[in-house]
Amino acid sequence: MVVPYKREVLTDFSVKENEKAFLEGLKTVENYLGKDYDLIIGGKRVTTEEKIISTNPANPKEVIGRVSKANKEIVEEAMQVASKTFETWRKSKPEMRADILFKAANIVRQRKHEFSALLVKEAGKPWREADADVAEGIDFMEYYGRQMLKLKDGMEVLSHPHEENRFSYIPLGVGVVIPPWNFAFAIMCGTTVAALVSGNTVLLKPASATPVVAAKFVDVLEEAGLPQGVLNYVPGSGSEIGDYLVDHPKTRFISFTGSREVGARIYEKAAKIQPGQIWLKRVIAEMGGKDTIVVDEDADIEVAAQSIVTSAFGFSGQKCSACSRVVAVGEAYDKVLNRVVEITKDLSVGDPSEKSTYVGPVIDQAAFDKIMRYIEIGKKEGRLLTGGEGDNSNGYYIQPTVFADIDPEAVIMQEEIFGPVVTFTKANDFDEAIEIANNTEYGLTGAVISKNRYHIEKAREDFHVGNLYINRGCTGAVVGYQPFGGFNMSGTDSKAGGPDYLLLHMQAKTVSEKY
Ligand code: GLU
Repeated sequence: MVVPYKREVLTDFSVKENEKAFLEGLKTVENYLGKDYDLIIGGKRVTTEEKIISTNPANPKEVIGRVSKANKEIVEEAMQVASKTFETWRKSKPEMRADILFKAANIVRQRKHEFSALLVKEAGKPWREADADVAEGIDFMEYYGRQMLKLKDGMEVLSHPHEENRFSYIPLGVGVVIPPWNFAFAIMCGTTVAALVSGNTVLLKPASATPVVAAKFVDVLEEAGLPQGVLNYVPGSGSEIGDYLVDHPKTRFISFTGSREVGARIYEKAAKIQPGQIWLKRVIAEMGGKDTIVVDEDADIEVAAQSIVTSAFGFSGQKCSACSRVVAVGEAYDKVLNRVVEITKDLSVGDPSEKSTYVGPVIDQAAFDKIMRYIEIGKKEGRLLTGGEGDNSNGYYIQPTVFADIDPEAVIMQEEIFGPVVTFTKANDFDEAIEIANNTEYGLTGAVISKNRYHIEKAREDFHVGNLYINRGCTGAVVGYQPFGGFNMSGTDSKAGGPDYLLLHMQAKTVSEKY
């Protein structure tokens, strides 16, 4: 009997015991820093000379791990193994596959603080964010396991006397899974296990900034009983093996989460039919966002300000769901802006391994440079109210930054910054606020803070985003509660953590028998 799905409870760090347990987790991780990690192909460990060096964004001299790096030859072998393994895995019982996910969820739950601590070190995530990231990964396993059990017998279709019809879902084949570094556990785990539990085999190419946490997770799946060759761990560079795998004629689908630029490129490349390819590849893509919180004239200013600060500066704004624009109506503008600046000035910026840190570093030097460039543009486009400074002398730190009086067409109102920067603009009325909110090529998340029922209903209909939140912030979708994915240039609207997500990894088959 499988008990109903329930989300994982987040850790309350004000409880001394929990704080202690997390510190233990950090110690466990510190004990294995700097180790070597192999590629895993068909269960075999493969070591290469060339390595990806994973470092701590809060202290780049600290090496998290040295990870073997796949080249074309190696991923070709991995592809052959995954194709061959698919022939047995596709016939495995869905119950057995779901069971592996439930076991893996339990193993991670036992080692939850260790995994969170690894995210603190490898991704620079503050405690609370790291804890939520790992909890979400557990949720994905528990939820998708149960979803597979629901889908295993297909869906109801009609039959005639002397004609029996069945409609069921079968897996696709070999999937290439390319997760991001910003939810280095949750999204890496969710995209991988969704593909596996649906009966596909997988080549997992982890984000180059966070390959160690992925290696640890592959070990967990092995411990949970996943047969060899079903999941192959192939870290490497996007330009070398990423392109090769996307182009490969045996690749059946690609599950990608990351930048718009890379996502669009994958989409285009996957559309091209290669010699020997006998299917149309599927692409599941979750890309960027330029997410807006609309503050109505009658809004509760405290709710609005807290929602903006959490959504804009949680994990230094490095979420595709992060609030990077605020559109406030009339008199609400100055009030909410002042309150946001006040709260922002009080945020603690620093080493994420300290419990009190709210804003940690950004992921790497390239991110630091890009965000600082946008801040310079912002200074020309509007009024800088707080932040605006960066320090990369040890760790890639950027002060949480608020800009005001920005034109809706300005660069920093249009382009995804992926850092701790939020931009305010004023609207004359609610209709105009929604127009400004929709004035972007993206369509991932958005929020409306309002007490006006007509305005809330208008937003439901007209605010064109995949995830719309009312009277709360625009980050933190929960698996099974708020399926997550966006419109337009935010991706293929593949709703992670939703009831139809697994279907994206399967194809439907109709069998009709006369008797
Ligand atoms: N699902 C996350 C949220 O709701 C964002 C995921 C992402 O940044 O890719 O905040």
